[in-house]
Amino acid sequence: MLGADLRDPEVLAAYDAARKRLHDHLSAAFPEFAWRIETSERRAFMPRGALDPVDLLEVGVAEKLHRHWDYVLVVVPNELISRHGPSTLGVPSSALEAAVASSSRLGSGTRLAGRLAALALHLLGHLWGLDHAGSGPMRPVESPEDLALAPFPEAQREQARRQLEEVARTRLEDVRVRWGALSFYGRTFAKDPREILSAIWGYRPWRMPIYLGRLSAAAAVSVVYFLLTSDAWALGAHLSWRAVLGLAALSIVAAAVFIFSGQDLGRLGREHAWREQLARTRLVLLGTLGLGMLSLWLGLLLLSLAGAWVLPRALLEAWMGLAPTAEHLLRYAVFTATIGVLGAALGGNLEEEREIKAELFFDEET
Ligand SMILES: [Zn+2]
Repeated sequence: MLGADLRDPEVLAAYDAARKRLHDHLSAAFPEFAWRIETSERRAFMPRGALDPVDLLEVGVAEKLHRHWDYVLVVVPNELISRHGPSTLGVPSSALEAAVASSSRLGSGTRLAGRLAALALHLLGHLWGLDHAGSGPMRPVESPEDLALAPFPEAQREQARRQLEEVARTRLEDVRVRWGALSFYGRTFAKDPREILSAIWGYRPWRMPIYLGRLSAAAAVSVVYFLLTSDAWALGAHLSWRAVLGLAALSIVAAAVFIFSGQDLGRLGREHAWREQLARTRLVLLGTLGLGMLSLWLGLLLLSLAGAWVLPRALLEAWMGLAPTAEHLLRYAVFTATIGVLGAALGGNLEEEREIKAELFFDEET
């Protein structure tokens, strides 16, 4: 799919040549499937200046859902805004089953066509869950000169074939038209729970407190505040274990749901009815956020425990009205970590929406 208002006939011809080459290559590499590469033009952006891949992915996903495509690749002549390096040629998002490619540094003419086709294949490989390899299309791309169409090594070809077979199986929405929300999500999960769990794991959600700095800072501030508040000590240390742990579980779920809805993460393609791939994406995102909040909670627990340990016992005794035991301290730490996570959920919505999306959606910057 073309994402920018590009009029240059030479570049457009090169794009078309790239599409044909990719089609031939895929047909030869995976003859067991019938390949169709449709094109569409959504001239949403000017063909000049750097574009944010997050915006392009959103445009692409809307088009993919609209046209019932399995995958979408958004191609632009612009450069892409890079978050982690000096520049990026493309961004695959296996969560969205979409990718973005920039032709800005790929040259022109037949060279452009060949490199773009190779870049598209590399990005597709990521969408199929393939890792980087020493040879073939999944060789890490260090410069545009590296890009050349190559066959997949047999192990990777087999892995991709299994993934494609899965996709080619009837999607759930084609089986039955009317679904209740819960049963649809339940079915989607039950169909391939391992795949969904491994997708969540692949996001390494425990890193979330690190890349969401503002969110974590808001949480840490509320923990420190609660450590120094006498009334909170009196309350926290006298709550029962059941209440403290129940609150903790509730706050983690609430924080994940709150960020999910506050960041509009669930909005992608909302106007469309039940889509299995959309449901899968949402399950993966919610799971990732949930584990991210859990890891934040654990981090806050450690911070709070350390803080409680440092505070003079005599002071705590006065605040709590009893001699603090280790169990009191632990229970209070659980309590403050819980409050901290709730604070984080509120702070999380101050976080740059695009940064959260980039972290959750991007597999890499190619
Ligand atoms: Zn890659």
